[in-house]
Amino acid sequence: MVRKDFFMHDFSYVGKSFYCENVNLEKIAKRFGTPTYVYSYKTLTEHYLKLDSAFNYINHTICYSIKSNSNIAICKLLAGQGCGADVVSGGELYRAIKAGIKPDKIVYAGVGKTEDEIKFALLSNILLFNSESQAELELINKVAGELNKRAKIGLRINPDVDAKTHAYITTGKKENKFGIPLGEAFEIYKKADRYKNLEFRGIHIHIGSQITSVQPYVEAVKKAVDFINKLKSNEIKIDYINIGGGLGIIYDKESPAKADEFADSLKPFLKGLNCSLILEPGRFITGNAGVLLTKVLLVKKSIEKKFIIVDAAMNDLARPSLYDAYHNILPLVKSDEDKSSEIVDIVGPVCESGDFFAKNRRFPFVESNNILAILSAGAYGFSMSSNYNSRPRAAEVLAKNGRCYLIRKRETYRDLIRNEKIPAILAKLGRKNGKK
Ligand SMILES: *Cc1c(COP(=O)(O)O)cnc(C)c1O
Repeated sequence: MVRKDFFMHDFSYVGKSFYCENVNLEKIAKRFGTPTYVYSYKTLTEHYLKLDSAFNYINHTICYSIKSNSNIAICKLLAGQGCGADVVSGGELYRAIKAGIKPDKIVYAGVGKTEDEIKFALLSNILLFNSESQAELELINKVAGELNKRAKIGLRINPDVDAKTHAYITTGKKENKFGIPLGEAFEIYKKADRYKNLEFRGIHIHIGSQITSVQPYVEAVKKAVDFINKLKSNEIKIDYINIGGGLGIIYDKESPAKADEFADSLKPFLKGLNCSLILEPGRFITGNAGVLLTKVLLVKKSIEKKFIIVDAAMNDLARPSLYDAYHNILPLVKSDEDKSSEIVDIVGPVCESGDFFAKNRRFPFVESNNILAILSAGAYGFSMSSNYNSRPRAAEVLAKNGRCYLIRKRETYRDLIRNEKIPAILAKLGRKNGKK
């Protein structure tokens, strides 16, 4: 089942049981129930440090992309390593600050920020607003003026390169909604004076997600560097080059560029530039640092198919239904190698055909109450989860060297209706019906 070059280093079978950092995952399932996300402290730390040290040749800040996994304990863990944050909403900014991430290491991206969000970010003294339209620049300029503040801007340009990843997570082509075309960006810089309350300090690119080769980055960074040099020859100085996130990881048979290879391939372009570097990795740090534990509810056989129905669903982990993404799945108790395996679909209980985790997959024999681990679920797992079908969201647990810590309680039924209200007119109706 497990390859020799297993890619989730801090998760492995010990004997027949599957462990994370010396914690038996069966024990976590028993103690906290299922479905439950489990993250490795060591993996999270190591992934951050790997990238951090790969870019030692340049002054840099790693701004962890909070949207990949927003749990405040994870943010706190990374803050403790000196990590910054890339946020895309007021809510993420709130989390980042609550987790102790320094405001001068926070960058704020996104195509549409509200006035309240801009105000919050200005009052928090964040490092840069990554902005990507003239309309938004005008709004930030106005809000900054009202607060008597100056907003520092990293202009997101659209380098028009193909990241060769899933269409939904490609963001750097000219037909995508992201970024400003180079020609228009240049005009904005030339007329920067008309924005009295903005300081144009950086150039931002982010070309997509789950990118496995360095080539699209090299292409995009080269364009960004050429652009910065063009600005320089027009007496416009840029302090930050932000190359975004998107570094790919192994889900199945990918062989993504390693942090060192990635850093080395960009060195010729970044080295003499005289800019600080900002990186915004999300998946690279969290993706293979987490698994989703789920229990087999029952096995349903038809003539055509065998379905393994589990207690996690698309509301817990949306990636398969959203992107047709592949996740390796392992039983927590290893089956004998030559014990019968079958072709199965592994599906959740939600009323949608898109609610699946694996299709036509060879899988060892399992039965009701067996626990499975869905691998590589640390990024865009819990953070994309919802209450669809009125399913309480999963618990989250952090494992560290033989111990485990609950970092998010499982939601209850009461949590589901906490913010809902029955107006008086309906309450009366209810009484009337009750009298019948
Ligand atoms: C989503 C996003 C990231 C993180 O992407 P990963 O693929 O998880 O590394 C970084 N920057 C921006 C602007 C994003 O939208």
